[in-house]
Amino acid sequence: MMVEASVMEQSKNKMYLESQEARESSARSYPRRLPIAILEAEGIHIKDMDGKIYYDCLAGAGTLALGHNHPVVIEAIRQLIDNKRPLHTLDLTTPLKEHFVDELFASLPEEFARSARIQFCGPTGGDAIEAAIKLVKTATGRRSILSFQGGYHGSTHATMSLSGTPGQKEKVQGLMPDVHFLPYPYAYRCPFGAGGDQTHLLSSRYIENLLNDPESGILPPCAMIFEVVQGEGGSIPAPVEWIREMRRITREHNIPLIIDEVQTGIGRTGKLFAFEHAGIIPDVLVLSKAIGGSLPLSVMIYNDQLDVWKPGAHIGTFRGNQMAMAAGLATLKYVKENDIPAKAEERGKQLMSRLNGLKEQAACIGDVRGRGLMVGVEVVNENGGLDQLGHYPAYPRLASRIQQECLKRGLILEVGGRHSSVMRFLPPLIVTEEQIDDITRIFGEAVLEASAALSVE
Ligand code: PMP
Repeated sequence: MMVEASVMEQSKNKMYLESQEARESSARSYPRRLPIAILEAEGIHIKDMDGKIYYDCLAGAGTLALGHNHPVVIEAIRQLIDNKRPLHTLDLTTPLKEHFVDELFASLPEEFARSARIQFCGPTGGDAIEAAIKLVKTATGRRSILSFQGGYHGSTHATMSLSGTPGQKEKVQGLMPDVHFLPYPYAYRCPFGAGGDQTHLLSSRYIENLLNDPESGILPPCAMIFEVVQGEGGSIPAPVEWIREMRRITREHNIPLIIDEVQTGIGRTGKLFAFEHAGIIPDVLVLSKAIGGSLPLSVMIYNDQLDVWKPGAHIGTFRGNQMAMAAGLATLKYVKENDIPAKAEERGKQLMSRLNGLKEQAACIGDVRGRGLMVGVEVVNENGGLDQLGHYPAYPRLASRIQQECLKRGLILEVGGRHSSVMRFLPPLIVTEEQIDDITRIFGEAVLEASAALSVE
């Protein structure tokens, strides 16, 4: 069904969704859980085709640091167009690109910036992770790589191979070999059955032992890669002590450390970059999502000692997205000038405290966790058997029902994590105190309604 532009305004969600279902790939994902078509967006709000307004706590999967259509982003794009700047430049340079790199390097810890190189990638997070893998393989001459259970690094062959997500992998033959999965410090579902601080301590010990064991079965790795807060894996923050241990261990074993900040970068966790919480310096940092200020852009920043690859070793047509650099530069400046990371931290604390209040009243809320405005609520089945840590099992059906009840009440939330049972809060970083109160009020109502509905089904 073709949707005529002239009737767009009068059309309803259903008509667009039917058209989308008829013509788009069966791999489409978000519309299945969030069946709306979007007309307008501003700040934290979006309006669907039926005129309904929502709080957007998905925000482009954490992309929209400043929300939709922030005035500084729109103005930067307008200036670019009004000044006849090029929109597309491959990897040729421009004054704007120069300015973007200046600002980004000035935002990094000095020790990292001093010897940093940047590679513009093309322009998804997944492509920048691909570039990172190629870089470290080239620089070390090694092929095995250490990744973590529950990690998510993209949807291409190699990045999927590094990710936990089984859904994407199981039907695809020939993944990248030599990926070894290690236990992430997910204390609530502790991989060692211990929980609390023991989880990260045991994880560090296990990994150190593995690397010291000449017969571990793992060849010397070209890198270790992880997210400082696992996003798709269920909003799981790694303790800072563990992050420091990973840095110490990788340094002692001469293994490059790749930090994937595709989702956490640019203020989301309460610091400009999430690795700063631990005071470490990665060898390779991958950024995408928020760095393009709503538009597609990805970069890899790395220590120049790794810069041994040949001209053209990683290329791609769309590495010169000037509009994204303009939007990203405006976003980065705004985030720094307005102390947005500190605000994200404060709002994140408020959000977690409200959610912990709900947890007291609702046994189906098993765990509330996060860092800054990357927060997750793990939904559990209180009628299921307890695991060895005394926690109920995951409850994907209830999580999905809560998501639908939220949507009905004008709140867009993503569901992710193990067994699709974690409600993920990723609001724009400009969310206000009043909005957090309203969002948690809606969420609380949705939890009650969904629990009641499932208990009678
Ligand atoms: N790494 C992380 C941590 C991510 O969250 C994502 C996307 N959700 C990616 C990589 C892949 O980015 P993209 O979807 O732009 O390829």
